[in-house]
Amino acid sequence: AHLDRIAAVDGDLHAFLHVSSDEALATAAEVDAKRAGGEELHPLAGVPIAVKDVVVTKGLPTTAGSKILERWIPPYDATLVERIKAAGLPILGKTNMDEFAMGSSTEHSAFGNTKNPWDLDRIPGGSGGGSAAAVAGFEAPLAIGTDTGGSIRQPGAVTGTVGVKPTYGGVSRYGLIAMASSLDQAGPVTRTVLDAALLHELIGGHDPHDSTSINEPVPGVVAAARQGAKGDLKGLRVGVVKELSGEGYQAGVSARFDESLEQLRALGAEVVEVSCPSFAYALDAYYLIMPAEASSNLAKFDGMRFGLRVEPADGPVTAERVMGATRGAGFGDEVKRRVILGTYALSAGYYDAYYGSAQKVRTLIQRDFAAAFERADVLVSPTAPTTAFKFGEKLDDPLAMYLNDVATIPANLAGVPGMSLPNGLSDDGLPVGFQILAPAKADDRLYRVGAALE
Ligand code: GLN
Repeated sequence: AHLDRIAAVDGDLHAFLHVSSDEALATAAEVDAKRAGGEELHPLAGVPIAVKDVVVTKGLPTTAGSKILERWIPPYDATLVERIKAAGLPILGKTNMDEFAMGSSTEHSAFGNTKNPWDLDRIPGGSGGGSAAAVAGFEAPLAIGTDTGGSIRQPGAVTGTVGVKPTYGGVSRYGLIAMASSLDQAGPVTRTVLDAALLHELIGGHDPHDSTSINEPVPGVVAAARQGAKGDLKGLRVGVVKELSGEGYQAGVSARFDESLEQLRALGAEVVEVSCPSFAYALDAYYLIMPAEASSNLAKFDGMRFGLRVEPADGPVTAERVMGATRGAGFGDEVKRRVILGTYALSAGYYDAYYGSAQKVRTLIQRDFAAAFERADVLVSPTAPTTAFKFGEKLDDPLAMYLNDVATIPANLAGVPGMSLPNGLSDDGLPVGFQILAPAKADDRLYRVGAALE
């Protein structure tokens, strides 16, 4: 049914870069046979899933939305993909994204835009617009996203889906094509909080292949979602982050947010205001740390190891000239912009002023979170300042594009988990997201509050 739905609507939505029909049907048949044989199966066995194209899949093309990886076929599976396969979830295909996960609209994909199912003239968010559109457009009930500065949560907000960025280290990064290794985290994109919890428990947990993986059991997110669904939040302290609301937030977004605060009070929660003054510098710190790490991570795309290789049109074929020609042809403008920013920020003489200062701001943001979590069990804000904008609206103004992530970036800088929950429609009839943040390793709180509000 999902493959039929993809065939019917993906010509318009373009959520998928590759549809793996044969592999999906083969997995479904295997699961059916096991079920018929009375074998005990994972609760999600047989439920199809879409995977963001930045996650490597053995034998299936993986491009990270870039020409430089066109026609590259990974020789191994990411750990999270191994777990998905072992549990018997058919993989429907790979979803579109901004090139190397750099963007907030999926307009930076080398393979064309993904459209928002709510309005085909509007962006589905980014960088994981493909995963969010696939779930919102009923092409897939579950999807995998990755979130470095908001790429699971912001697409979730503008497409009316649930998106979770787990605690840093909660889900293995082994087999993710890295953008900024200290910020990247994979997580679920779904239509309900319980679906997200089931997927989170499946992909989460320790992995010796990832040196930053947390060596502890996954927090009990499924149990928390079931408990939350009973609708009792008595005694829970909810902190409204003063710096993440007000000016710059669309009126309809703020109105839906205020209504959800009312709902939290009605469910027994105590709502307090908290202040995180350093959040004002989060975007600035992010746009130094992220490009710095990305410029280093992207150095491996040299025309020799993976995918595209372009030889210089004339003159000698040296390693350096092949690298220049390949990267010139293979990377898009946004990737080049960030590689230049990152190498500049890391260069001798500037390192302390830029990268060093950004790391200090990162510490201040972590302290703000620590102080806020003394006063509140969870923090809340709108996920994104506006609803989905029109294609082209922010394409020529990188700073306007970057501002979409003001509310999501602090969580990545501090490594804490965050969820975006559908929060009704704004006055323009488009979906709004409600963000919930919890302390590191307390991902279960997101699910308890999310399921109560849902
Ligand atoms: N939109 C942000 C960026 O462009 C976040 C991207 C992400 O989380 N991958 O960097």
